[in-house]
Amino acid sequence: MLNQSFALGVGISSMLICVVNLIYTLILKRTDKLQNRLFVAILCILLINSLTNIFSSIYSSELHASDGIASFAVQGARYLYFATHTALCPFFFYYVSNVSFISTRLANRRFLLLSLPFFFTELLAITNPLTHFVWKIDTDMQFQRNWGEFLIYIVALFYYVLSMIVIGRTWQFISKKRRTALIFFITIVSIGIIVQLINKYIKVEVLAEAVGFTGVMMSVENEDDRMDFGMGFYNRTALGLDIGGCLQNERKLHILMIRIQNYDLVNRLAGEGEASTVTDIISDHLTSIVKRYYIYVPDKNTFILTLYDKSEEYVDTLVGEIKKRFEEPWDYKEYSIQLDALIVLAEIPKQIRSTAELFYMIDNPIRTKEGKNVLRGDDLSFIMRRQAVEDAVSRGFAENSYEVYYQPTYHLNGKLHGAEALIRMHDKELGNLYPDEFIPIAEQSGLIDDIDEFVLDQVCRFLKTGIPAKYGIDNINVNLSVLQCMRPGFVESIKEIVNRYSVDRRKINFEITESIAADDYETLSGVIRELKKEGFLFSMDDYGTGYSNVSAVFSLNLDVIKIDKSILWGAEKSAMGKVILENTIRMIKQMKKKILVEGVETESQIRLLEEMKVDYLQGFYFSKPVPKSDFVKLIAKENMFGRKTD
Ligand code: C2E
Ligand code: CA
Ligand code: CA
Repeated sequence: MLNQSFALGVGISSMLICVVNLIYTLILKRTDKLQNRLFVAILCILLINSLTNIFSSIYSSELHASDGIASFAVQGARYLYFATHTALCPFFFYYVSNVSFISTRLANRRFLLLSLPFFFTELLAITNPLTHFVWKIDTDMQFQRNWGEFLIYIVALFYYVLSMIVIGRTWQFISKKRRTALIFFITIVSIGIIVQLINKYIKVEVLAEAVGFTGVMMSVENEDDRMDFGMGFYNRTALGLDIGGCLQNERKLHILMIRIQNYDLVNRLAGEGEASTVTDIISDHLTSIVKRYYIYVPDKNTFILTLYDKSEEYVDTLVGEIKKRFEEPWDYKEYSIQLDALIVLAEIPKQIRSTAELFYMIDNPIRTKEGKNVLRGDDLSFIMRRQAVEDAVSRGFAENSYEVYYQPTYHLNGKLHGAEALIRMHDKELGNLYPDEFIPIAEQSGLIDDIDEFVLDQVCRFLKTGIPAKYGIDNINVNLSVLQCMRPGFVESIKEIVNRYSVDRRKINFEITESIAADDYETLSGVIRELKKEGFLFSMDDYGTGYSNVSAVFSLNLDVIKIDKSILWGAEKSAMGKVILENTIRMIKQMKKKILVEGVETESQIRLLEEMKVDYLQGFYFSKPVPKSDFVKLIAKENMFGRKTD
């Protein structure tokens, strides 16, 4: 009697848990992804199992042996229990596979093969009334187990172990929260099964499964951490984990990247500075192409659509349609906006073999031929080159591949002013490499710190010789990487290097770019303040290319603003460009900062800049960046004869 009420209570508890989970999941409408559908299916199985357990405990066969209806009900409940519970472990395996991006399509041969034991045991359970291979009620109305039941248990164990293998294999691509939930699930279910195995009257298996699944729901099915607030699409972290899972489990897919090239302009025009303007504009279109949960927004101007199990023809048509759509303007509020989209179609794992390669494609500017806005196939060989470049970057120090070049800068009157140190790389396999290619890769792989320290070390060594000062070089500019200055201990490492040579700190001018400044002003201004206190100078590089908060840039107390070459070149192309250059210069002057213009290539540009009265010039007109020995010759010669006699 006691056992019976206990079983009843446990049955009702697990039923309630399942009902609440189901309602919650359905209300949140998370049911259109295969993963979510499997989750709902598992909840339904558990719900049916709880109900059959309740039923069996009420109509316990011992008590109502002679009662025909009760016997029928008990047998029916038991039948339903086996027919559904047999599917539980296989479904859990399918669920885990889905979460880990293993294909669960029966067209996949390996998957079909793995499903055979399940199909067989399910067949046994369903046909049991005819065969009694699993269980039967004997003439004394006693429940009898048959070999089928043991087989079902063994097969369940098989899927349970498979699930754990999948989880183990994909471990590094499962977020911490999900890991905890899966461990919780496995532990609690194992306890439930063991307890029930030891004492068959303590029927807690289904309850343990329901509780375990609640944990899974709260973390795996809840995707808040995979989305940035208000975006409605998956974020960068989710992309890394999901594609990492696909690569790990050899899942093939196409990814389609759409990058809005004129993002800054659009945002400035229509967005009033909101980060999600472009997303707002195109999200309806994107969700009409693929479902929302196949879309990722790893960066504000970049969208990634993941296309699983799609044919070449399908993908081709899709790319064509998207390209066509972006040729038309978009309506947004009262505006009609033209979005300049670059479309990249890549195959995983054929063209993108690691998440590093994926983020390399996402994060770096991609050079394209004029007018070409769809890249695919061989156009993507630059991604394949990434690994080779990374290898070259990491062997660079051991093989002395790095060299610092110098490019002189001048006063407006043609007198030598300073120099910018620029890194070069000569690799034995890849030949000469330019920083535009290898710096982003070094940043990604963490080697940028070593490179920047190497450059600073070389510059200090050069300054220490006294040669630059002798020929009128006031200071040498050293580029700092975006990531480097934010690193804890950065200021100390700079001081340590410079102290090694005890050079005058006013001879070193650090260049930082506008894009860093935009991210985290507080850290940055702290770093600058500290280093300026030590005597170092600072320049703002590439000014005018980003979209930053002007007043914040000027609050950084920089010594020189370097106007980006594109602004200078734009001034020669159009009247509008000229106005932009003039206004930029006027504003910097009002802020009482020195102005350097880079990218000076022609005589006419010099005349223009003379008119506008900037302070310093840098560019190929004077000299390209050259090796140190050539640089010394160059400054020595200019010192003797003056530049104009060159
Ligand atoms: P940047 O700091 O804007 O450097 C100026 C770039 O413009 C250099 O390219 C230089 O060769 C080029 N340049 C200078 N004058 C002219 C000109 O008149 N016409 C043209 N067309 N180009 C000109 P480079 O050396 O290839 O460097 C590219 C970028 O790589 C640099 O841009 C900088 O962001 C990065 N970089 C270079 N060296 C280092 C380094 O030591 N550390 C770090 N973190 N970044 C570096
Ligand atoms: Ca620079
Ligand atoms: Ca620059």
